[in-house]
Amino acid sequence: MDIKKGIPVSSGVAIGEAFLLDHEGYRIPKRFISNHPKAVEREKERYRDAVEKAICELQDIEEKNQGNKDIAILFMGHRFIIEDPGIQEEIIEKIESFYYTAEYAVSHTMHKHSYKLKSLPNDYHSKRSIDLEDIENRLLKHLLGGQRENLCNLKNPVILVAKDLTPSETVILPQDRILAFITEIGGRTSHTAIVARTKGIPAVVGVNAATSQIRTGDIVIVDGGKGIVIIDPEPSALEKYRLQQKKEQVRQEKLKTLLNLPVETIDGYTITLRANIEEPTEVKIAMKNGATGIGLYRTEFIYVNEIDPQEETHLSAYKTALKDLKGNKLIIRTLDFGADKNFGLEDFVGEKNPFLGCRSIRLCFEKPDLFKKQLRAILRASSLGDVEIMFPMISSLEELLRAKGILEEVKQDLSKENISYNKNIKVGMMVEIPSVAITADLLVKEVDFFSIGTNDLIQYTLAVDRINERVAPLYKPAHPAIFRLIKRVVDIAKENHVKVSMCGEMSAESHYLVPLMGLGLREFSLSSSIILNAKEMIRKITMRRAKQIAQNLLNCITHEEALEYLDKELG
Ligand code: PEP
Ligand code: MG
Repeated sequence: MDIKKGIPVSSGVAIGEAFLLDHEGYRIPKRFISNHPKAVEREKERYRDAVEKAICELQDIEEKNQGNKDIAILFMGHRFIIEDPGIQEEIIEKIESFYYTAEYAVSHTMHKHSYKLKSLPNDYHSKRSIDLEDIENRLLKHLLGGQRENLCNLKNPVILVAKDLTPSETVILPQDRILAFITEIGGRTSHTAIVARTKGIPAVVGVNAATSQIRTGDIVIVDGGKGIVIIDPEPSALEKYRLQQKKEQVRQEKLKTLLNLPVETIDGYTITLRANIEEPTEVKIAMKNGATGIGLYRTEFIYVNEIDPQEETHLSAYKTALKDLKGNKLIIRTLDFGADKNFGLEDFVGEKNPFLGCRSIRLCFEKPDLFKKQLRAILRASSLGDVEIMFPMISSLEELLRAKGILEEVKQDLSKENISYNKNIKVGMMVEIPSVAITADLLVKEVDFFSIGTNDLIQYTLAVDRINERVAPLYKPAHPAIFRLIKRVVDIAKENHVKVSMCGEMSAESHYLVPLMGLGLREFSLSSSIILNAKEMIRKITMRRAKQIAQNLLNCITHEEALEYLDKELG
């Protein structure tokens, strides 16, 4: 038995077989077959067999993703390349004329095309070279006997172990077959952590050497609440955690009884709980968990397979979200691309220091056509439901005014084209950079709402990379600077009668939720799986006590003191 400690990012206990996701790809040495015609025929047959299996696999993915057009199209493209007669001939020719093994012929051909694409000056083409690598790996997997499994093909539920999970991997995860995640990379607000919390999957990140110490098939326990991973557990540990799992199931059932009860404190203060989503299909999960709308729609996923999605692609995603929202609010955040949300498009952004670089709203200013397509679609969606628009990563009044100016231009274009939209659409901004928290009094008159993004606000205030496990202990939500900044933003919003909410992950932790309410916040947007926990906490407390706790917390002079105090008060 081996016990490892990582960063707890999504609570719950999972016990099961590990599945190691290999990210290294295959290295295929140059090998030859005999020049005997039978050997050549056999090798060609191996290749054709791999092609057939890969095509079936891709058709299966396409079918399963009919509801998600972007993913279906991406994999259809992969299938077309595998079926391409030119590519097939090239590979067969290498087997017949050079007596290459099927693996080497595939690898050689795909590398050649990938290299050609990479060397084209156009960003789009260089990005497509990643697709060829993916196709190569798929064919090689079948040739080499399926060592590198595809996530979609998982038959039994597993605990997924990886260095890191890419966003495109997380979107196609078969949720019902993933018991838990373990990754080596990441922090509390890294992408994998957010996805795990949204889907309610236990997860521990920042587990050093997980991929070298855990092998596929090992029995593993994951305690997502404590950040513990136990490899090859002893019977007593298994017994203990099975009991804990049962208790957790009972608790989840109990939480469901809160679904139709109001979200209010004992002394009658109403709190609004909305959900954060990354894909429109997650609205259903959010509503099932008691959300009353979406407080943050991270639209980056619309760009996961396409650098520059069309207005209609945006609109169709927004319509899907609105359909399931049944009249509730949808706050759409404009593209926040870059840094943690680069989706393999580093070439496109080309950043050395991505969190501080040309990302998010800055990138939108650099590419106004791309930005305007999204704005047009959001405005069009606003005629179909309660839609609000939110700008991310605003760092100054000038930026806010510039974004609003572009929005105004787009509105005028739509008016000229007689396309309907809500002329009074509410416009808000994320407060996630210290400069705007400090100068909130200058920006407040220009917005309908502030939404505090603590994931980035903490990162930028404390200068701690939010996805770097090495500095994870320095990522301190209870640092006095953070509470002071939040208080300032809330006070200024209230004085100016502007709405203020929080969509960062800080409020997902119940011992922070209470003082945040005490500071004056009444609206939160959380991962869906947390909503009922938050509701339970809110219904157990008075606002009077929350205010006292907030006041006492503001008097704590270190993060450690604040944590100790919160532990004592709230457990
Ligand atoms: C944040 O920064 O707090 C936030 C909610 O946005 P994201 O996690 O998408 O950066
Ligand atoms: Mg952010």
